[in-house]
Amino acid sequence: MDLSSTIVYANGEFRRYDEAKVGLLTHGLQYGTGCFEGIRGYWAPEQRELLLVLLREHYERLAISAKILTMTLPHDVDRLMAITLELCARNRFECDIYIRPFVYKAAEDVGVRLHNVPDAFAIVPVPHHAYLDASRALDVCVSSWRRADDTMAPPRAKITGLYVNSALAKSEAHANGYDEAILLSHDGHVAEGSAENIFLVRRGVLYTPDPSQNVLEGCTRRAIMDLARDEFGLEVVERSIDRGELYSADEIFFTGTAAGVLAVGSVDRRAVGDGTIGPVTAQLRDAYARVVSGKEPRYAAWLTRATPLAAR
Ligand code: PMP
Repeated sequence: MDLSSTIVYANGEFRRYDEAKVGLLTHGLQYGTGCFEGIRGYWAPEQRELLLVLLREHYERLAISAKILTMTLPHDVDRLMAITLELCARNRFECDIYIRPFVYKAAEDVGVRLHNVPDAFAIVPVPHHAYLDASRALDVCVSSWRRADDTMAPPRAKITGLYVNSALAKSEAHANGYDEAILLSHDGHVAEGSAENIFLVRRGVLYTPDPSQNVLEGCTRRAIMDLARDEFGLEVVERSIDRGELYSADEIFFTGTAAGVLAVGSVDRRAVGDGTIGPVTAQLRDAYARVVSGKEPRYAAWLTRATPLAAR
């Protein structure tokens, strides 16, 4: 992807991607001392607008991640949202996008710590490419890697360095011929995918690990729980989930900003249901897709509209 002329926001200025540099010894790069967000923008061709999904919720989560790492965001959530809209406008995007805001420890020196190191902040938007194939049910495995535990570094914060855990699980799954991994928590309960939350459907009830199971509290997770309850009258239960429940579920799906709603067709080579995309999963996936493409006025509050500069 050639990003050289993309406009980014870095250290208080709008500039070209290729002019915004980070030094080799930067703390955040060496020690993973940073936190970030991933935000989707869907291009709505009829209105000629980008629809940014759950923008406020993502910045609120970034603020919490930063607080956990004793880092400081340069602006409040409202200002960060305004800067993001400006960024979309300056880039004149007319396609689906992915926005990556991040705050990181910026000193270029040696010595791991959080204190007495200045923070830097940037937002980089990129055209979106599909992360996982949503048109078919995924073959997934339970990873031999456990999800990082809150006692070592809190997974509820979206911490840069914690993604080594996700990367190990994802690449192990890939090397073994699977699309994605499910990570168990240290005590053996189901936590989440490498970059997605997980839901099980059993006898019409939705189950998902509660926030104390070392999961990232996904914005899409919350949205899907709301849709399931409010649109389809489904019962949603947050509780710890055993590995064996993965093998006896009627349906399983992942949720995430990049992924949307993704069906799981098998776990450890055991079919989930009949191995295809189940009816509840399909219903929720389609409802979510309608919401993020601006076709459900009742959920308009989930979307922030950004207009390309040229069209203003
Ligand atoms: N868990 C992890 C580890 C993730 O990286 C993500 C993606 N941000 C999610 C869950 C899903 O969260 P969200 O719906 O906010 O994208």
